[in-house]
Amino acid sequence: MSTTLQSNLVTSQNIWLHLLPQQKILVSLTGPHGTDIIGCVLDCMAKNDCEIEDFMLSRLHHNVTFGVLITLKSDNANLFRDLAEAAKKWDGNLTFNVHNQQDILPKSLEDAPYKNRIKYTATVLNQNGLTPKFLDEWTKLLLQEKISVEKMQKLSEGKLICADYKLSVPSETDLERLRQELFQLSINHRTDVALQPFNVFRKHKRLVVFDMDSTLIQQEVIDEIARMAGVVNEVAAITEAAMNGEIDFQESLRRRVSLLKGTSVDVLQSIKKKLIFTEGAHLLCKALKKVGFKLAVISGGFIPLANYVKNELGLDYAFANQVRYFKFNLFSIT
Ligand SMILES: [Mg+2]
Repeated sequence: MSTTLQSNLVTSQNIWLHLLPQQKILVSLTGPHGTDIIGCVLDCMAKNDCEIEDFMLSRLHHNVTFGVLITLKSDNANLFRDLAEAAKKWDGNLTFNVHNQQDILPKSLEDAPYKNRIKYTATVLNQNGLTPKFLDEWTKLLLQEKISVEKMQKLSEGKLICADYKLSVPSETDLERLRQELFQLSINHRTDVALQPFNVFRKHKRLVVFDMDSTLIQQEVIDEIARMAGVVNEVAAITEAAMNGEIDFQESLRRRVSLLKGTSVDVLQSIKKKLIFTEGAHLLCKALKKVGFKLAVISGGFIPLANYVKNELGLDYAFANQVRYFKFNLFSIT
C-alpha cells in the first residue's frame, strides 16, 4: 500500500491509514535544498513512538530527499499528522509506503534475490562526459547479468564524467566473462569501467603504481628516441606488433633497441625537455601524496627518463630498464 501526501492537499483531504503496532513504514520527504527536511522528519520521529531502522539522504541539484524506514510502536497516527504539517511548512512532497510483514517480493525482484550475492563497486569514467547511450547500455548489461544497483553516486565536480556504483552481484556470476563484456562496453563507448570487490581492502590501499608511457606522459619514449635516430617507422611497426600480441615484450624491446644502435644516449636529455605530462597528473600525484599514498612508476622504457618523471611528480619509486653505456655511447639494455 502506498499513499502520497502533497503538502498543499493535506488540509483539504482526509487520508485514512489503517495502522498497526510493529508495522513497517517507509517515509520519504522531498523538498527544496536549504530547508530543514532532515531535522523536521527526525523531530516528528522523536516526538512519536517509533523505531528508526534505516535512513538515506540524497540531494540532486536543488532537491533533497530524506527517506526513513520506521517500525511503529503503537497505532497512534499523530506521527503522520506531524509529518504532513512539516511537509506543508517546507513545501515538500511526503510519501508513505506501508509494508506488511507478509509482503511478498515483487515479481520484478524474483530474478534478483538478495541472497548469495557479493558486493562489488564499479567506477565509470569518460573525461568528455558519461553519455546517456553508455549509461543505458551499461545499465542493460547489469540487468542482463541480474546484478542489482544498490547505490549510484556522481564523483566528479560539475559535469557528469565519473560515477561510482555499488553493485550486488550473484555469487555464481562468471567474472571472467563479465570482465570481457565490460571490456567490450568500455571500448565501444571509450569509457573506463573498473570493477572491484567492495571490501575493506578497497578503502585501505596505500600504494599506487603508474605506467609511464601514454599514461603519466603523453608520448611513448622509445618512439621519441626513434624519431631522433631516424627510425621512427621501423620502431613503431615493432611496437604495434607487440601490442597486437604477435611478438612478446622482451623480444620487441630487443628488436627496437637494436634499431637504435649507434644513437647517443645524450638524446635522453633532449627528450626530457619534450615530455608532455598528462593533464591532471601533477595534481593527482600531489593529492595522493597528501593523503599518504606511496607512489611508483614502472616503465618498459629507460631508467633516466623514469627517474625524471619520478622527480617531476614527486613519486617514491621508479623502475625501468637500465641503459648500458658502451664506450661509443651506443644503446644497449640490461
Ligand atoms: Mg603505456
